[in-house]
Amino acid sequence: MVVGAGLGGLATALRLAKKGYEVEIIEKNSQAGGRLNQLKKDGFTFDIGPSFFSMSYEFKEFAKDCNIELPFKYVELDPLYTVNFSRSPKTYRLYKDIHKLAEQFKDVEPDFEVKMRKYLKNGKSLFDDTVDIVIKDNYNTVFSYLLTLMKVNPKHLPVLFRNFWQQVCRYFSSDDAREIVSLVAFFLGRTPFDTPAVYTLLSYTEFQHDGYYNVEGGMYKIVEGILGELQKENVKITYNTEIVNFISNGNKLEALVDQNGKSWHRDVIVVNSDAASFRGKIFKRAKFTEAKLDKMEWTMGPLTIYLGLKCKLPQVEHHNYYLGDNFKDYANKIFQASGTLEKPYYYVNVLSRNNADCAPEGCESLFFVCPVPDLRFKKNWDDKEAIVNSIIADFSARIGQDIVPEIISKTSYSPIDWESKFNLHRGSGLGLSHKMFQIGAFRPKNFDEKFKNVFYVGASTVPGTGLPITMISSKLVVKRIEKLKN
Ligand SMILES: Cc1cc2nc3c(=O)[nH]c(=O)nc-3n(C[C@H](O)[C@H](O)[C@H](O)COP(=O)(O)OP(=O)(O)OC[C@H]3O[C@@H](n4cnc5c(N)ncnc54)[C@H](O)[C@@H]3O)c2cc1C
Repeated sequence: MVVGAGLGGLATALRLAKKGYEVEIIEKNSQAGGRLNQLKKDGFTFDIGPSFFSMSYEFKEFAKDCNIELPFKYVELDPLYTVNFSRSPKTYRLYKDIHKLAEQFKDVEPDFEVKMRKYLKNGKSLFDDTVDIVIKDNYNTVFSYLLTLMKVNPKHLPVLFRNFWQQVCRYFSSDDAREIVSLVAFFLGRTPFDTPAVYTLLSYTEFQHDGYYNVEGGMYKIVEGILGELQKENVKITYNTEIVNFISNGNKLEALVDQNGKSWHRDVIVVNSDAASFRGKIFKRAKFTEAKLDKMEWTMGPLTIYLGLKCKLPQVEHHNYYLGDNFKDYANKIFQASGTLEKPYYYVNVLSRNNADCAPEGCESLFFVCPVPDLRFKKNWDDKEAIVNSIIADFSARIGQDIVPEIISKTSYSPIDWESKFNLHRGSGLGLSHKMFQIGAFRPKNFDEKFKNVFYVGASTVPGTGLPITMISSKLVVKRIEKLKN
């Protein structure tokens, strides 16, 4: 049985069903997808979380492993996204063609093309030398993991002592180039100032290795596609069912207990709920008490806004970042106790731009993500509406069009909503961060320390967060389960 119908749970269920296991899923919410979810409201369709993915080959491999045609279509993004600063009216378009990209920096960063190629070359080398080792395998012990790490080319050693920002500053000197190149650290849910420099390999993945992809019809097509395949395999999903307790017998989990007191007795359980907080909140493990969870390093909370407009915004592209002029200050405040959020930084996705069905004719479906402190640092969200309105006002000013009179649908989720909807600890959007001591064998494992019949899949277990990485997580956990047979 799989607990949770997020991408990790769905992918694991299909992999197992295809291998002949009898699988069923239970899900807290009334709809599958977890964070990869959809909101349909007032005639508009919104993807509520992910809006693009990288490493498309992980999805292809999933389809191949399951012996199916990939049940959704994806489209490459080029430009990857646009970036706008409050300090200038210029819009940067992040083209994969480095020459075309460099043209836009000719007035601000001398020799941008040469510097970028050098920076990406280093990113490629980091990628080639570390990725397979760190994310593609199961580790039973920290020792075996460290032994494997020792195989990494020692030339990368200095990188271990830098953060993302410091690494970027070695290549670029202008604020524009530094801030744009280091934006990708936010995709990992932290800031360039506390993300290890080794993740500059992500710049290589975005510009050269594989790029970013959008899904035709919206990201939720991924979920609908996998659900269709699960149906063919007769995998039953029970919705509105939340696991709140358990019954054990020594080293065996006998049953999970839902909110109505019903016991679910099953031989093998795969938990897709957050691997750290499930261990603490449900299994009451001493290493994962509330206080210990709070001390771990979590990714930032999202404040998300979903707007339906009764007009078109031809001047806004599909994926866009709007940055202020206090990059470092804002980034640092995200992980400090804070009452107010001055000049939020935000991302805007116009889903209807390439997916006409997601908005009524002549209308636009907009999704905003603003990185904000999680509930450890900002508990009170009574000011949510004021912050949302300030973002909308800032966006209107940036695009030269007041969108307020055009809004016919408006919804927003603060970290409080993200926490309560998907059991995300303190509303952290992407789960545990990827600092060195929270990856590989240091991350909560994909097998349970005590119950031999319990496994974990998803963002806070190995290898980490993000859609393609969650697909790898499903592959790794299935490998573990297969071993039970032997
Ligand atoms: C705002 C936002 C934007 C993002 N953007 C991107 C992006 O553009 N690209 C990208 O690759 N990634 C992105 N991500 C990250 C991505 O969404 C996640 O890494 C991925 O969806 C995690 O999937 P999962 O299966 O691990 O967990 P989840 O999606 O959280 O699924 C877990 C499921 O378990 C259920 N559950 C939890 N507890 C219980 C319980 N006790 N009983 C029963 N069910 C339970 C939950 O309801 C949920 O359905 C984004 C995330 C957020 C929040």
